[in-house]
Amino acid sequence: MKYLLRGDDSQLYTVTRDDIYRLVCTPDMSEEDQELTILNWIESEDAQAFSDETFNDYQEATLETAKYPPNKALEYLSLGIASEAGEVAGKMKKWIRDGDSKMTDVEWKQAMASEIGDVLWYCARLAAELDLSLSQIAEDNMEKLLGRKERGVIGGSGDNR
Ligand SMILES: [Mg+2]
Repeated sequence: MKYLLRGDDSQLYTVTRDDIYRLVCTPDMSEEDQELTILNWIESEDAQAFSDETFNDYQEATLETAKYPPNKALEYLSLGIASEAGEVAGKMKKWIRDGDSKMTDVEWKQAMASEIGDVLWYCARLAAELDLSLSQIAEDNMEKLLGRKERGVIGGSGDNR
């Protein structure tokens, strides 16, 4: 579990429970005192839990509508992500071409939301087939991007920067 915290420099940071422990606890404190001290710190700093179980609940629920050959799951789901991302691009393309002459702004936004949802479904299933937690992926991604922002390399290229 990670927490999002706005620093004195008004930047957003992620902190783990271990980070908080090192910051506010001492080894001679009882476990109860440590727990209370950590909870008090979280409240006083207005640190927000980055993710609750929503991501994981959604990921679990996608199993209800999962229908693909188990021996081709990774291929099927990877292609599904690309296919649905293509549908997002298609809706954007048509909006550029047609503007609001074919659908209203509200209708277009709903259509985009639906396609984004389709991308999310395939991401959740692919993660599940790889025994990965969607919540953990979201946390790790946020930590990676905030780290890049902190180092001033968010606009560069390369996976490991
Ligand atoms: Mg779709």
